[in-house]
Amino acid sequence: MVHNYSAGPCILPQEVLQKASESVRELEGSGLSLIEISHRSKDFVNIMERARSLVKEILNVPDGYTVLFLQGGASLGFYMSAINYMKKNGGRSAYLDTGSWSSKAIKEAKLLGEAHVVASSKDDNFTHIPKDWSVPTGADYFHCTSNNTIFGTQMKSFPKTDIPVLCDMSSDIFSKEINVADFDLIYAGAQKNMGPAGTTVYIAKKESLGKTGRDIPSMLDLLVHDSKDSMFNTPPVFSVYVSMLTLEWLKGIGGIKEIEARNNAKAELIYGEIDRNPLFSGTTAVEDRSTMNATFVLNDEGAHREMFDAMWNEAQINGLKGHRSVGGYRASMYNALPLESVQVLVDVMKELERKA
Ligand SMILES: *Cc1c(COP(=O)(O)O)cnc(C)c1O
Repeated sequence: MVHNYSAGPCILPQEVLQKASESVRELEGSGLSLIEISHRSKDFVNIMERARSLVKEILNVPDGYTVLFLQGGASLGFYMSAINYMKKNGGRSAYLDTGSWSSKAIKEAKLLGEAHVVASSKDDNFTHIPKDWSVPTGADYFHCTSNNTIFGTQMKSFPKTDIPVLCDMSSDIFSKEINVADFDLIYAGAQKNMGPAGTTVYIAKKESLGKTGRDIPSMLDLLVHDSKDSMFNTPPVFSVYVSMLTLEWLKGIGGIKEIEARNNAKAELIYGEIDRNPLFSGTTAVEDRSTMNATFVLNDEGAHREMFDAMWNEAQINGLKGHRSVGGYRASMYNALPLESVQVLVDVMKELERKA
């Protein structure tokens, strides 16, 4: 068995992969492949509706919100979130800069208006989430990134404010309980915790849309997509279907409560070893540690790197290398990664300590 620590696209449940591959040959007794039927067919409309309603059910989305499965990745979400909330005249927004993805979101917002950075941990190579900042009154919206996939930090709380709160939750959506009502817009690329690349989920409070005074291109307008029930144009049918299967899997194992407990157990196991083992160190502030992406380094790379790399490769661990901007190692522990895989890594770390 391969232990898949890939940061994204990431591990999906085996039973989901099984059903997904069957659907490519034949969709549930229809005689046709999932990827050759009309997206307007009853079969696919049902899939889209089921996927949307599973998001609502699993995250307990309040009334008045719309759930959309769109394309373009979270990277288009940076611009789309901004254009749906930044006022045309004198547009002002506020951003918390906690990593590369936040910085990219800020860059897109600047194409449309002012993007004020309320705080940034850039000078510390994003090793922590900034504290002691406030959301400026009068801004059109506040934007943050809930989990910093590359740096291994995670926001543990979100500001309560009168202005719309927009959040890129690409790498921790569906990993723990959130209060959707605290946000006006949540967006997340599927490929970190929900499905294959190709679709991006948007959860938007309808009453906060359509207030910018701008002409928004149809494909970027969340109200247009909502008015067409997420079928304004041909949706990425395979990604939506596999996301639906993954959400069904999540519901089946006990939903958010269960997955949150599993994710906490995995995080405790890996961070416990990082802190205990004298050969390793974590790279982030302890209170901001991500339950999804644990980043760590060898204290003496020169002495131990070659041996450690050979050992984890031997143990069938995949995707452990840290992002090039951080170096070291990154254990991405998305929903479908079992605790046993984390135990295998921890055993390798212990073994290194014995051998070194
Ligand atoms: C991966 C990631 C993105 C980029 O997603 P794409 O779908 O590749 O555009 C954006 N934000 C976060 C937090 C991510 O982890």
